Amino acid sequence: MSEELHAWPYGEAQSVIEKLERQSERKHDYVLFETGYGPSGLPHIGTFAEVARTTWVRHAFHQMSDVPTKLFAFSDDMDGLRAVPTNLPNKKMLLEHLGKPLCDIPDPFEEEESFSGYMNAKLRSFLDRFAFDYDFKSSKDQYRNGVFNDGLLRILEHYDDVKGIIIPTLGQKKGSNVDRSSWSPFMPVCTNCGKVYTTSVSDVHPETGEITFVCDQEMADKNGNRIISCGHSERIPVTDGNVKVGWKVDWALRWYVFGVDYEMYGKDLIESADLSAKIVRALGGEPPVGFFYEMYLDEQGQKISKTKGNGLEIDEWLKYGPLESLGWFIFQNPKKARKMFFGVIPKSVDEYLQDREKFADQESAEKGNNPVNFVEYQRVDAGQEISYSSGVSYSMILNLVSVLNTEDKGIVWEYLNRYSEDAAADEAIINRMIDRALEYYRDFIVPTKEYKTPDEEMMPALRQLVSFLESYEGNSAEELQSATYAAGKENGLKLGKWFAAMYRLLLGQERGPRLGTFMQLYGVENTLNLIREKMGDRL
Ligand SMILES: [Zn+2]
Repeated sequence: MSEELHAWPYGEAQSVIEKLERQSERKHDYVLFETGYGPSGLPHIGTFAEVARTTWVRHAFHQMSDVPTKLFAFSDDMDGLRAVPTNLPNKKMLLEHLGKPLCDIPDPFEEEESFSGYMNAKLRSFLDRFAFDYDFKSSKDQYRNGVFNDGLLRILEHYDDVKGIIIPTLGQKKGSNVDRSSWSPFMPVCTNCGKVYTTSVSDVHPETGEITFVCDQEMADKNGNRIISCGHSERIPVTDGNVKVGWKVDWALRWYVFGVDYEMYGKDLIESADLSAKIVRALGGEPPVGFFYEMYLDEQGQKISKTKGNGLEIDEWLKYGPLESLGWFIFQNPKKARKMFFGVIPKSVDEYLQDREKFADQESAEKGNNPVNFVEYQRVDAGQEISYSSGVSYSMILNLVSVLNTEDKGIVWEYLNRYSEDAAADEAIINRMIDRALEYYRDFIVPTKEYKTPDEEMMPALRQLVSFLESYEGNSAEELQSATYAAGKENGLKLGKWFAAMYRLLLGQERGPRLGTFMQLYGVENTLNLIREKMGDRL
């Protein structure tokens, strides 16, 4: 790898290249990336982040190697339903199916053939909406169509090895009631009641590829709803979807069968990934190159959880910021825990635009490392021109919208055209920003707006600035900034307080843009009128 290509996806792609060089025998002639999806709930911003990051590593790989690649988006739809999600209809029906594989439960929305069929369709339309390139794979299809058969028989052959890897890790957590002695990698689907969480393996028969199970386990979901076993017992083959494998082993099974080369996961799954890697090796395979990412925190620094509902929905971000700004945010060091909330959106948009502006003039390695190379990988691949030259920022538009107090895009454009000759060249992006800035202004700025005229001690400085503006004939952000600065300084004011007083007066906010730039954008005459209007007789 070139020394200069240091953006994190290149490091990941390099590890994949090293894996290829190390392996003398491979299952396929392409490189296989994989992402996982649990279809007990709808796809969310975390799903997007994982697929986007994996896609960026794939993009880096394509820039370094000619070997073709594929991405499997894998849905665990043989997993059982452990609890009835609170946000779904038909709860009573779902309650009757607790403990069964998600693919065997009717769709509560009555649109698809099953619960997971509905969620899988949502996943696919979600991924298609962002034009990700992937092959969809469902757990059910792999098990029931026999794709996993060889792997399942292999696990049966290495039954004690797999148990030896997992059992010592069980029941270590306080309050855990896992029964070590009865643990098995196999979870038979009861041939009588159809449940997967109520069965236990009572005997194994490697010579015939079979096991004997008993439906004798009782459990309760977190709301106290009991999942009842039926008492049935039978000797069945481990193949063709009669059994699935349990958590941690299922990762190993598909890594082994598919020959997965690369998969990333959240930090909370590091231990599972390590155990899965050990199992793959026990089966005679090689685990994929792994990569863990940190989980996002909310504004208060709390972990984001689906049950708390403190996370941001992807459409909430897209209401206030363009998709590329979300990509830019997600691209930043994935190993660092960061807060994701509405307040980070304006800054993410502006930093993305700055990177986009740089991108146009950068040379090969710098260009490669620029987040825009990844965030806009489809445009990069298509050889489209990527630039941003107007210097119009999202925060500038926010301030403009804030002071103009208008929802009329045409008026906003009048000001932007006066501010930058190049604004029209960035029309498409700027239009998307105006739409979103209007939403952001309405939802987050208006409720906190509080105009205040300056205290008496500020008046000499304000009068000095007003008289400067009255005689000023230019329109330079620099000159306007220095005049504001000088007015505060020459009248003995603390500059921080002076500028804050101006923001309160002009924008009704605690903080604001560089005042010189603001006055240039809004216009000297308009700024003067605004001050006169707010101050009335006090000037
Ligand atoms: Zn049963």
